[in-house]
Amino acid sequence: MKHQPPPPPLPLSQPPSLGGATGGVVASAISSLNGNNNNNSSATNGLEAGKCRPTLYPKPKTPSFDKDRDYIGFATLPEQVHRKSVKRGFEFTLMVVGESGLGKSTLINSLFLGDLYKNRQMPNVEERIEKTTKVEKKTMDIEERGVRLRLTVVDTPGFGDAVNCEDSWRVCTQYIDEQFRQYFTDESGLNRRNIQDNRVHCCLYFVPPWGHSLRQMDLDLIRRLHRKVNIVLVIGKADCLNKQEVRKLKERILQDLEDNHIQLYQFPECDSDEDEDFKQQDRELKASIPFAVVGSNTILEVAGKKVRGRQYPWGVVNVEDPEHSDFIKLRTFLISTHMQDLKDTTQDVHYENFRAQCISQISQHALRERGKLKRDSISSTNGFDAAISETDRLLLQKDEEIRRMQDMLTQMQEKLKQTHLMEMKKNDSVIDV
Ligand code: GDP
Repeated sequence: MKHQPPPPPLPLSQPPSLGGATGGVVASAISSLNGNNNNNSSATNGLEAGKCRPTLYPKPKTPSFDKDRDYIGFATLPEQVHRKSVKRGFEFTLMVVGESGLGKSTLINSLFLGDLYKNRQMPNVEERIEKTTKVEKKTMDIEERGVRLRLTVVDTPGFGDAVNCEDSWRVCTQYIDEQFRQYFTDESGLNRRNIQDNRVHCCLYFVPPWGHSLRQMDLDLIRRLHRKVNIVLVIGKADCLNKQEVRKLKERILQDLEDNHIQLYQFPECDSDEDEDFKQQDRELKASIPFAVVGSNTILEVAGKKVRGRQYPWGVVNVEDPEHSDFIKLRTFLISTHMQDLKDTTQDVHYENFRAQCISQISQHALRERGKLKRDSISSTNGFDAAISETDRLLLQKDEEIRRMQDMLTQMQEKLKQTHLMEMKKNDSVIDV
């Protein structure tokens, strides 16, 4: 079949605004999620896998068969995928790990403009000493410009609170593995269309601002988790530190990670054809890791403007001011630019590792079972042989007995015959006389 010449490029429609700092966050995240379940989505959603930013796709013309004879119609594919994805909605699971009081709940509420921790009860000191780490799951459905996001926040209250923190990391790793296992089971089941994805897509690990670097327990946990989940480090309550202290703490943390050969979530490389503004934003995001954040759920008025901030006797810390904290950078990264990449990495790297392990365990188990069955069947065959030879021996014995009896019978018959003949001869001789 002869190929048609490619259709003329379609005019771009007015790109939709990605929204302001607060209003458009989720919507912009979702625009990066278009066609999210397709790993080869570069052709279908205007967003290539591994790209750092949602690319706006051209809105195709409504086909007009009279005018556009060359128009085939597949340019509407991104729209079709977009419509389908928006209808289905999106899921994202975020795990927050860190000891109590580091500002985790405040930050989550500030990030998603919700109140996930309304009925929270704080343990007292006595309870904390013996406290074990729990896993608490909270889900909220957020909707922005018609796009629905089902956000699950997995909190680990009690993490690092007890004197003995050993079980803290175990609870986290177990939870992550359980979600993978559940997904693996669902995927192998019959109803694969409606699988709920509860896998942890990102783990925000809170580091206290008062240390000099990572503590042993931080390293212990990170070492155990970094191959299972995308870990993003966050320095909580960063308003306790000045600019220089933040910079030093970040440097020491990065050094610690390098010394311990720990690789946290890797930002995908930016494509060379991206515009300069975007490349700059990407560079800034990468340079900010670990994010030093300040959280607040209080809206304050500063110079006639409403800001989310913390009021101190000497002034206001505006959490959304990049000079004061990396809050906006964290939000941009987590929601607007990298949410889909976090999901892709979970699927393509962490879940694949888990799946490969499962499959190898299953095949090893199957091999062992087969070996056992083989051994069993061999031993049962040997037993069968033994049973046969025993029967044979008995049969041979019986045969021998029968043969002996037959011999005896033959001998007796012979004797009788002889006796009979002798008597006959005797009688004959008497007659002769
Ligand atoms: P969590 O136990 O880690 O969830 O911590 P919370 O979010 O409950 O915060 C504990 C306390 O720290 C509360 O009184 C918050 O108001 C306060 N807090 C939260 N975030 C910050 C922050 O960024 N800086 C400061 N100075 N205090 C904060």
